[in-house]
Amino acid sequence: NGSLDVRDALAKELEKAGIDVILEVKAEDRKKEDTYISKSGCQGFCQMGPLLHIEPGDILYTKVKIADVPEIVERTLQRGEIIDRLLYVDHKNGNCHCKGDAEIPFYNRQKRVVLANCRIEPGDVREYIARGGYFGARKAVLEMKPEEVCQTAIESGLRGRGGGGFPTGLKWKFTLASKNDKKYVICNGDEGDPGAFMDRSVMEGNPHAVIEGMMIAARAIGADEGYVYVRAEYPLAVERMRAAVKDAEAIGVLGDNLFGSDFSFRVNVMEGAGAFVCGEETALIASIEGKRGMPKPKPPFPAQSGLWGKPTVINNVETLASVPGIFHKGPEQYKSVGTEKSPGTKTFALTGHVANTGLIEVPFGTTLREIVYNIGGGVTNNAGEITNEDFKAVQIGGPSGGCLTPEMLDLPLDFDSLKSVGAMVGSGGLVVMNKQTCIVKIARFFMQFTQNESCGKCVPCREGTRQMLALLDDIIEGRADRHTLELLEETAKAVQLGSLCGLGKTAPNPVLSTLRYFREEYEAHVLKKT
Ligand code: SF4
Repeated sequence: NGSLDVRDALAKELEKAGIDVILEVKAEDRKKEDTYISKSGCQGFCQMGPLLHIEPGDILYTKVKIADVPEIVERTLQRGEIIDRLLYVDHKNGNCHCKGDAEIPFYNRQKRVVLANCRIEPGDVREYIARGGYFGARKAVLEMKPEEVCQTAIESGLRGRGGGGFPTGLKWKFTLASKNDKKYVICNGDEGDPGAFMDRSVMEGNPHAVIEGMMIAARAIGADEGYVYVRAEYPLAVERMRAAVKDAEAIGVLGDNLFGSDFSFRVNVMEGAGAFVCGEETALIASIEGKRGMPKPKPPFPAQSGLWGKPTVINNVETLASVPGIFHKGPEQYKSVGTEKSPGTKTFALTGHVANTGLIEVPFGTTLREIVYNIGGGVTNNAGEITNEDFKAVQIGGPSGGCLTPEMLDLPLDFDSLKSVGAMVGSGGLVVMNKQTCIVKIARFFMQFTQNESCGKCVPCREGTRQMLALLDDIIEGRADRHTLELLEETAKAVQLGSLCGLGKTAPNPVLSTLRYFREEYEAHVLKKT
């Protein structure tokens, strides 16, 4: 959005005004009276960027342009005035101007835990430590045995955020039970769903939380080495993760004999090469080993035989970034948010026909209505105007997920209730659609994606997704008849049942869920012809 240009313009303008500004400085050298311009991670409110957050005062300016900078320096920084024009206007509440994020519904209706630290300078480990960073790891290393670390994670109820929702502590416990003198922790940063960018923002904005989560996982299972596998399309995430590893090593929170103990842990950052299927854990392991990224049948599970045949834990970015807080503040506090079976918070990438697109974090159990209408600010038409009655559906969980309809607006979003309606949390993409959206074309879009990304190892996925795509083309282009829908459904079920890995097993979900809830729309396409 041009935020870095605004930052540079601000630095120049401050210099012109005779205000000393410090752009690059380590936190330990900072003085309260100095003026700093910090580069933060993503603050989530994409629709309103570039954002300029001014402290003290909790002022948040939105859609800041370079041309606004002289006025910001003169009026706000020098005279303490607030420029109304740059504040967020809450149209739903009498067009009131919101001064800071405490007043903005997009922020104040969220619960930002994993994303909270995305507002600090990600390149400065001391800012992270100043907010309690590495305290959880220190406790896990110095005060707890590996069994206790696993037990704390189990007690917290933390479930994997990569899609499956498997209990993280149990995964650690199984890997701890596999006896071996070498074990690994892998952070899965191969987020590839269209419309999802949560893990990217966490790696870019809060990289030390990911490293600390890996350290605690390593302590739990008895590993001394870890890999962060980041997709190559995220160059800034790769850069920030590498810099964070270097900084953590430089100040001694990563490396040998940590916190004076006999526990050592090293982290390597590795780039993926653009294959969606490498998000599947056995394919990811093959990719790290230098082989073609193709899934393998399980068992053996990575907990028994993973990277280089050694016991391995693979957790997703958001899961790992949730871990430090559990060990710093305790599992009880973690469990106090969310639902009984899905504790904690979840990040979602909110996109599509909604007024406030961006990255959000809410407790599990929050309703779709709260997300779409209050945090998201309402549904928009194709011209971008808010027309709340126009809500048609939300695609949740990307190409593996399903569709949620207006009848499900009050459904609490958690692992189990989503499963009960044929959808899944997945990675957390939320694409809002208005009534002008053709649901069959949406299903086709996701089918095209999975068909492209099928690795070709097994026939049901390789050929089945191709057939499903051809049938969807027939429906959209007017060549289908009534039997086409039956054939589409039958093929979808065969792909689901016969595919080897999660990609194939879940590829039919968007088609099956839209057929279930919007069958009349598919039939309308068929009827056009007959
Ligand atoms: Fe490859 Fe698809 Fe088979 Fe998975 S289900 S192994 S992606 S062909």
